[in-house]
Amino acid sequence: MASFQDYQQGLFDFDDEAQPSSAVDEAPASGTRAEAQPSRPVDEVLGELNGSDSDITTLGALDYQHMSLEQARRAHDLLAGFVLEDQKAYYIDNAPTSSDAAFDARLRALQQVEKHFPELDTADSPSHIVGGAGLEQLLERTSADNVNESVANTSADGVDPELAATPAKNDAPTEQEQSSEFPDIEHPTRMLSLDDVFSIEELRSWYDSTRRSLEVGENEPLEMTCEVKIDGLALDLIYENGILTRGETRGDGRIGKDITTNIKAIRSIPQQLDGSHADIPAFLEVRGEVFLTFDSFNAINAKREQEGEPVFANARNTAAGTLMNKNVDVLRERNLTFYAHGIGAIQYSAEESERGDAMLDQSQAYELYKAWGIPISPHNRVVTNFQQIEDMIDYYLEHRYDIEHPLDGIVVKVNDISRQRELGVTARAPRWGIAYKYPPEEVNTMLENIIVQVGRTGRVTPVAILKPVSVAGSTVARATLHNEQEIERKGVLIGDLITVRKAGDVIPEIVGPVLSYRAKHTDKVHAFTMPTVCPECGTPLVQEKEGDVDLRCPNAETCPAQLEERLIHLASRKAFDIDSMGEQVALWLTNPEANRPDSVDSYDPSTKIISVAKGSAPAAYVPAPGLTLPAPQQPVLRNEAGLFALTPEMLKDVYKWVEIPIQDVWEVEVAQPDGTVKKVKKRAKREGSGRFRRERAFFNEGKRHKNEQGEVVVDPPTPSANTVKLFEQLQKARHAQLWRVLTALSIRHVGDTKARDLERHFGSLEALENASKEEIAQIDGMGEEIAQSIVDWFAKAHEPGDWRYDLLTSWKLAGVGSVSYENSSEQTLAGLTILVTGSIAGMTREQVKESIEAHGGKASSGKPSKKTTVVITGENPGESKVVKAQELGVPLMGEEALFAMLEHGPAGILPGYGDAPASGDSASNPASSASAASSASPADASEGAGE
Ligand SMILES: [Zn+2]
Repeated sequence: MASFQDYQQGLFDFDDEAQPSSAVDEAPASGTRAEAQPSRPVDEVLGELNGSDSDITTLGALDYQHMSLEQARRAHDLLAGFVLEDQKAYYIDNAPTSSDAAFDARLRALQQVEKHFPELDTADSPSHIVGGAGLEQLLERTSADNVNESVANTSADGVDPELAATPAKNDAPTEQEQSSEFPDIEHPTRMLSLDDVFSIEELRSWYDSTRRSLEVGENEPLEMTCEVKIDGLALDLIYENGILTRGETRGDGRIGKDITTNIKAIRSIPQQLDGSHADIPAFLEVRGEVFLTFDSFNAINAKREQEGEPVFANARNTAAGTLMNKNVDVLRERNLTFYAHGIGAIQYSAEESERGDAMLDQSQAYELYKAWGIPISPHNRVVTNFQQIEDMIDYYLEHRYDIEHPLDGIVVKVNDISRQRELGVTARAPRWGIAYKYPPEEVNTMLENIIVQVGRTGRVTPVAILKPVSVAGSTVARATLHNEQEIERKGVLIGDLITVRKAGDVIPEIVGPVLSYRAKHTDKVHAFTMPTVCPECGTPLVQEKEGDVDLRCPNAETCPAQLEERLIHLASRKAFDIDSMGEQVALWLTNPEANRPDSVDSYDPSTKIISVAKGSAPAAYVPAPGLTLPAPQQPVLRNEAGLFALTPEMLKDVYKWVEIPIQDVWEVEVAQPDGTVKKVKKRAKREGSGRFRRERAFFNEGKRHKNEQGEVVVDPPTPSANTVKLFEQLQKARHAQLWRVLTALSIRHVGDTKARDLERHFGSLEALENASKEEIAQIDGMGEEIAQSIVDWFAKAHEPGDWRYDLLTSWKLAGVGSVSYENSSEQTLAGLTILVTGSIAGMTREQVKESIEAHGGKASSGKPSKKTTVVITGENPGESKVVKAQELGVPLMGEEALFAMLEHGPAGILPGYGDAPASGDSASNPASSASAASSASPADASEGAGE
């Protein structure tokens, strides 16, 4: 019989708890796949490290090559302190305040420092700690005087962030008291962690070296399991003769907490294994992950919201708080789920001993688990080549939120257990498995401030100003908080450490505060108060209707923020399409003093650029005696009425305020082909001088030169290329189609789609101006509210003295809105909803949309639905759209099909729309229009009409 001792080696251990790898020294320190950032002065970078998730971004700029030993020492002290704090919070207190990504980034940076300065790589560096036991020893060794104070603090109030907000029963113990009440227990076999990799290249190199070690040829199949990496907590379960006898947390991998009572309250963990006595091992150690499904997590939050409690921000932390809760009722109510993903030890009774060898594959082990009633992940796959691993990674990156639980990567393991034994383990991790981690979509950062922004229609929106942080590969510095109620609902305070999420390609969202951080920094946080007046123009804010959650600035005419936004909007591709009028131009036209310095101390009219030796700060600036700030300028546009009356002369003397850039200058040595070394000067600009000067906004200064008499003369300023283009485009906009003009008016609720509907229905601006509310409301998709908004706008525009009167009159005078609607296109696409993904040869997106609509079709965006008639795939189509179309059975066709349908209609192209017209002459062939197609095939046409 296989002795218990045989299994002590952990050969079956396929636990995959997150643990950073030491084998990835060359990878960027950012922990994401973001590109490497330019290095910044070391002292500056170190000064910015603060133990928050913004360190991910900051560390990306750390220059290990050019660090002095003294700087390296400082970096090491700082990083070691943070890493130790993180490890302690994670392994011991089970209450992390850093995200995994930030922890990884700091650990990698620490390893980089030690790599470049081996003298700092001592045995007790936290870079060598695996799990909590080594950590406890280290904490004892170093004691309070050596360890960074914040580490010591964590131990005193390492409250689980989620549990801290739990409605505690009266005099319930704190989380810290609770977790310390669970006794320590040694695992039967060690719970090792898999190494993490963060890029396909690193994964590939692990794969190749595994293949080589096993002497598997490049094109030979190699079986591996691919598993979704659950973002939960590792558990070790012991079954003796099929009965659950013990449950333990991971702890440091050797010693965990005995939480048997709590484990027994988790419904998805079987108390007793299924199957006959002979099939069940005498001793079984099951590894797996406990977590909250999205459904359970949402249900918990729905209940809390109902009860007026702040909602939990993070499913993993909530699962952690639940698992360690001394109140077993909480566990029962919260419905934790468990999936097994590994075996620690297995031992059959003497008479069944040969079964010990029956478990040949990882996947076979999972099948046995299933038979015993132990839940396993439904997402496991067995793959045979690298491409299939990449496919799995791509699939779950896209479907990250479509499965039942939070995930943060893909775990790959050699399937054959004898091969796992052959590969063995290193000091810290098995060689036969690896965890590929996705870029973090959720990180923590500081909420530095909440400002309010005034939008195009006067809506006032609170916006969170964040310490810039990298989320899912891009830097996030602000996030909308929507309205005051939303801030209350999320419970965030200025000065909080908060969690930011970016799912897929959507805009960043604030999840909520990290409460354990706030508990330690109560003096640094304060609540946001919504202003009562517009921050841009001082007008008292109002609710449009009683009970509105939004506040608005009613000063539509001259509020500079609203005017600027309206200008940007009317220049957009959905309106006049004036690409020479972006945000900057809109600002210079409406608010040229936007960046005016507060005092003459930061006004430096005579410097264009400040050159310094690389990384050093510019000398202090002292303004020349008697220097004064120039008088503020009046904006050339008070509202958009004057837009078409602008002349180059009016823009000539408009000045913008610019911050003077700092230029780093340094020398590098470049080896020449002849063996010599040449010194080359390098320059790079950066921001942050805090000194401002004025420059012409729309014109270039004239050239200085000597005239024939030898005197220095200055040519008159000339319009910039963009200014020339601006006037050309304004000229063209006078003849824009009616729908573009309607969009440009910024009438509430009238975007380009509604504008096109109005154009089709009314044909001319005059007809719309005089239309009744009822007439507008009866147009499909328009409704009362929109009709009212349109009628109100034109009523104001007919009142002399109102700014909208000035606007409409002056625009009309310039010829705007005089183009009547004529749709000469045949309605070949009537009744069809067409979704185009990817680019279509020779057409912009806007043109594609226009031509579909001009031909009577509906151009759909977003994901395909059952209402979509066909998906047209151009070049580089969106993969998710294609997959969705396939799932729904929506036909997928190339751009030729679109061109053909525009000309002839869907007959002969789309299934169910009849045969192709007999001749190519569409004008004379009745089958080429959609209505003719429907009479040819009434059954299918009714489907189309239903859209
Ligand atoms: Zn305002």
